This record gives sequence, C-alpha cells and structure tokens, in this order.
Amino acid sequence: MKREIYDEDHEAFRSSVREFLDREVVPHLEDYQSAHALSRDFWLAAGKQGFLGLEVPEEYGGSEAGDYRFNAVLTEELAKVNMTLPSCLGIHADIVAPYLVHLTTEEQKQRWLPSFCSGELLTAIGMTEPSGGSDLAGLKTTAVKDGSDWVINGSKTFITNGYSADMVLVAARTAPEKKARGITLFAVEATREGYSRGRKLDKVGQDESDTAELFFEDVRVPEENIVGELDNGFIHMMTWLPQERLGSAVTNLAHARQILDETIHYTKDRKAFGQSIGQFQHNKFLMADLVTRVEVTQAYLDQCVLAHTKGELTPIDAAKAKWWSAQVQNDVLDHCVQLHGGYGFMNEYRVARAWRDARVTKIWAGSNEIMKELIGRDLGL
Ligand SMILES: Cc1cc2nc3c(=O)[nH]c(=O)nc-3n(C[C@H](O)[C@H](O)[C@H](O)COP(=O)(O)OP(=O)(O)OC[C@H]3O[C@@H](n4cnc5c(N)ncnc54)[C@H](O)[C@@H]3O)c2cc1C
Repeated sequence: MKREIYDEDHEAFRSSVREFLDREVVPHLEDYQSAHALSRDFWLAAGKQGFLGLEVPEEYGGSEAGDYRFNAVLTEELAKVNMTLPSCLGIHADIVAPYLVHLTTEEQKQRWLPSFCSGELLTAIGMTEPSGGSDLAGLKTTAVKDGSDWVINGSKTFITNGYSADMVLVAARTAPEKKARGITLFAVEATREGYSRGRKLDKVGQDESDTAELFFEDVRVPEENIVGELDNGFIHMMTWLPQERLGSAVTNLAHARQILDETIHYTKDRKAFGQSIGQFQHNKFLMADLVTRVEVTQAYLDQCVLAHTKGELTPIDAAKAKWWSAQVQNDVLDHCVQLHGGYGFMNEYRVARAWRDARVTKIWAGSNEIMKELIGRDLGL
C-alpha cells in the first residue's frame, strides 16, 4: 500500500541516510559485533551527517528538523540494517535529546548540545535499576543535597550505550517521602569520581550494543547538572516516554518488514519436493497473513507518526503502537526463521540474528504488559 506521510524532502533525506549507511556503517558491522559496541567513528560520522541533532536547534549545532517524520525515516533506514543501530542511535538522538533540548537552561544547552550533536558527547539514559524497571516510581537510587552539590548513590542496569556513554541522564530519588513526586533527573558525566561501569552485559541478541550496569558511589554533581525541575523527574519522563515508545514501534515494524521481504525472496528460491517452498499453500497463506499484518500495522503507525509530528500523539496511542508492533515483529520473525528451516537457526543468517535481536522489544521501553496496563486503565478498568 502506498504510504502517504512522507514527501519529497523526506525521501531525499532517506536516500542520504541509505547512502551514509552503505558507505560508513555496513562495512563495519562485523567489527561492531565483535566489539559489542558501535565505534566512536560511527558516532562522529553520524554527527557529521547531522543525524544526531534532528531535535536540536541550529544555534547549538543541530539541524532542528522540527518534523518528527525525519526521525522516523532515519529510524526506518537504520532498522533495515539491524535492530541495534536504531536502538543505540535512538537512545541518544531520539530519547535523550528532548530532555536536553526542552528541559535545560541556556548555560546547559551551550555546555552539552554542540558536542551532543557532533557525537563527541555520547549519552545514555538510566531509569531501570536491578530491583526493577516497570515500577519506575519505586526507584531506589538517591541524590542527597550537600551544600550546592548533590551526592548520588545507587545503581542502574541494562543501560543502552552505558559502557561508552560520556554522560548519563540519571533518575534519582531526591525526596523519599514523595514517591513519584520526589524524583529528579541529573546529568552525570562519566568522568565524575565514584561513577563506574560494570562489564558489557552478555545479551541474547543485539550483539553490537554496549548494554551495561552503572554504579554510583558518592558521585558528587553540581546543582547545574539537574535537568528540568527538582522533584519533577517522573513527570518529565512520562512526558517524553511516548516519543521513546513511538521510536521503538517504528523500529520494530521497519525491522520486521525488511526481514519479511528477504524471507519472501528466500521462499521463491528454496526448493522442496520439486517446487519453491513459497508455493506450498500453507506457506503462501502464511505470507499473505504476515504481509497483511505488517501493512495494517504500518497504517496505524503512520497515523501515530503524523499525530506526533503535530504534537498530538497521546501516551495511550503510543502504548498501543509499542506493544502491538513488538508482538507483530516477534510473530513475523518467528515465522521467518521457520521458513528458513535449519538455516534460520544459524547465526550467519540475518534472519537468525534478527529473531534474536527482536525478542527484547516486548520487554523494553515499557514491557508489553505495562503498555496493556496503561491502555486498560485508560478504559476505566
Ligand atoms: C537490552 C536492553 C536494553 C535496555 N536499555 C535501557 C536503557 O537504556 N535505559 C533504561 O533505563 N532501561 C533500559 N532497559 C530496561 C528495560 O526498560 C526494562 O528491562 C523493562 O522496563 C522491564 O523492567 P525489568 O527488567 O526490571 O522487569 P520487571 O519490572 O521486574 O518485570 C518483570 C515482568 O513482570 C511484568 N510486570 C511488571 N509489572 C507488571 C504489572 N503491573 N502487570 C503485569 N505484568 C507486570 C513485566 O511485564 C515483566 O514481564 C533495557 C533492557 C534491555 C533488556
């Protein structure tokens, strides 16, 4: 089905992203995989291309597209290569960016944004803790005021870009008695005394990303490192989570769509019992089913992207987009593995890696159960 949300400018941008990926990224994919991290050269090249500053005003080094469809195009093209690229780049440029653009003082903008856009200041966001991620309001990391500084103690886990980040946006409890109303966001530079990283976590998929535990032992940060309002961090996170969930949804579907296309080609070539495996009615119907599911989901997501571009996307619609796309992606990829037979279980095949990479999408960015909880609550249940 023809998609109507993009115009010539978006498509020209898409071509430039593709060209960048072919030239600067695809040749290095194996290196990222063995290093369990994207290289700093990747970040600097993406910065040079203007891909890290789509949300950032020009005066601070960004390109301030002012149109979320450019973010969506970038995400789609990254996801066609693999799931890790949009996840890592998205954390920095799509998830942390709005906090640093919309909640910061002029001094903070000047301090952080130019190097954020160039890729010299790589960022991560630390919400999840070893004791739990779904119940964000129950987080245990504390920040206690001492003179004009704040002293942070606690730990975070599963942090994307965590191992290589130069600065982490950390959610910490500043008023224990106030629960959700007592959380504040702090920008913590990796050079601060008392800050340390654990090893790169050994994951089932997304081998190219450096996911890490972070530890804070009496980490002292000045008041000037508070991002947004004191004690209002939970509300700030709730405000920007819909963009995170939409970005996840766009990734999920673009990734599934790409692997499904490749699988359809495979089923035309692969023979069994003297015919292409795609010609067996069972497989033909299966692929008709999967293609339909992908296209119908695309129509919903496109409406969400448009709504977000106009500033009208609700948290509930973003939650629907996130859980549904993650489910569709996982269903599609499981069938794609099956259609590849034994090759589908071999890591040297893209489909196998894509399947491993996708499993987490039902867990992160708010688990699918939490998304349904939000939707159910909105129904008055
Ligand atoms: C690869 C990876 C990268 C990640 N990157 C980041 C990152 O960059 N920054 C960050 O802060 N976090 C990150 N996360 C953390 C992620 O967001 C959390 O794992 C997720 O929110 C779930 O939290 P949890 O793992 O503590 O599970 P828990 O909260 O312990 O949940 C366990 C299970 O219980 C279910 N559950 C919990 N509450 C309810 C309920 N009310 N109703 C029904 N079921 C419920 C959950 O759905 C889940 O199935 C990442 C995770 C992974 C795996």
